[in-house]
Amino acid sequence: MRTRLPPSPTGFLHVGNLRTALYCYLLAKQTGDHFYLRIEDTDRERFVDGAMEAVCRVLHWAGLDPDEGVMLEDGKIVQKGDKGPYIQSERLDLYKKYADELVASGKAYYAFDTKEEIDQMRAEQQQAGNPAPRYDASVRMRMKNALTMSEEEVQEKLDAGEEYVIRLLVPPERTFTFEDQVRGKVEFKGHTVDDQVLMKSDGFPTYHLAHVVDDHLMETGLVMRGEEWLSSLPKHLLLFEYLGWEPPQYAHVPLLLNADKSKLSKRQNDVAVEDYIEQGYLPEALLNFIAQLGWNTGDTKEIYSLEDMIEEFSMDRIQKSGAIFDREKLDWLQGQWMRNFSLEEFVDRIRPLVAEEYPEAADDADFSQKAALIQERITFFKEAPEMLSYYYTEPSADMELIANPKQKLTEEMVPEMIQLLIDTLEPIADSDWTDEKLKDILFATCDEKELKKGQLLWPLRAILTGLPYSPGAFEVAAVLGKEKTMQRLKKG
Ligand code: GLU
Repeated sequence: MRTRLPPSPTGFLHVGNLRTALYCYLLAKQTGDHFYLRIEDTDRERFVDGAMEAVCRVLHWAGLDPDEGVMLEDGKIVQKGDKGPYIQSERLDLYKKYADELVASGKAYYAFDTKEEIDQMRAEQQQAGNPAPRYDASVRMRMKNALTMSEEEVQEKLDAGEEYVIRLLVPPERTFTFEDQVRGKVEFKGHTVDDQVLMKSDGFPTYHLAHVVDDHLMETGLVMRGEEWLSSLPKHLLLFEYLGWEPPQYAHVPLLLNADKSKLSKRQNDVAVEDYIEQGYLPEALLNFIAQLGWNTGDTKEIYSLEDMIEEFSMDRIQKSGAIFDREKLDWLQGQWMRNFSLEEFVDRIRPLVAEEYPEAADDADFSQKAALIQERITFFKEAPEMLSYYYTEPSADMELIANPKQKLTEEMVPEMIQLLIDTLEPIADSDWTDEKLKDILFATCDEKELKKGQLLWPLRAILTGLPYSPGAFEVAAVLGKEKTMQRLKKG
């Protein structure tokens, strides 16, 4: 299945585009075919410098490098493949050629209406009770276009260099039916479809014409895109028919939604993949999460590597309804993928970050032991320096942290508990200073003094780490060693 990702270079890659890229990549890999990258830069107002490079970098980060089309080589944009150019602004002659062909065969027409005239047409329709005014069969014979003018008039205007657009001639009586790979059978009535602008007055094609031409000439097997394009499908089908081409398969994937079921928006969520990269998400976690926005295998399996997905992905399990972007789930998956690293790899990833803040971590012989304790709890690598801070600096634990109503520990009890900890731990021999032994001894003390475990262990953990969350008291004390533990308790 030959697939493609055709983003517009708007400066960032939307997470919805990453999902499409992933699904398309999977389908191509499953069949040993190509996944190619095309750049749709026909909207000159939205063009952002460096945006193509950014898209390539994000795809590379995600492990979804295209096999063909636009790519980065030594930091420079290059195009590979025999169906290029893959950047639409380099294909303007082609679009013009097909637009002219459509005009010549009477399937499209020149229109010279000014913006004011179109606004007026809309206002009139609205007044007449039409809530969704369109340039279509019901109005086209009242407008300034080649259907209402003589050939000479049209030619005069063209010769005089007047601004024009080319519009698609949509037959209102037609019914379009199509089998969408996700939605199943879809049907559209011609009279609900507008005479879409195909070529704009600046000589650039609209998305509608450009994608039809490109997906035909680039031999795309499947167009997968967001559901927002579904209503434009009849225009695309008509274009394929008019140009005498077979349409590719289409799959319209469900919208991504905020928690309140509104369309995924910047106000409630990060929408740029770059934002997630910056926050320290692992590509594995983000892909795993994104894959399941609208797709599942129907069982309870939640962790999928890219290889698993290549094996298990299928279009018939893409859902039709919108997919809620559940940030908690993403963070949970991120945690799962963090635990998935071997300890060695985990150490390699976090040691430089910790050493940046605490240089002695660079050759700390016990670093692995310390790292092992936080791997179970960490969500992002960047949290490691703080999570290990208490090994390299003297923490300051104040009463606010130590006294803790949840542990039934009042301020008045704190000095007493610290003294009890000192008295209990002082006699322990260095050779017995292991988390197991510390646990046995401290649990026994709790029983003997009729204390709740937290009443004794919370102050120990808080004093040793200075943090509200950390690995447990015994584990930290064991790694810290007896000397430092006793020092901190006494200071406490
Ligand atoms: N440039 C379009 C977009 O970014 C592409 C849609 C498509 O996949 O055809 O929405």
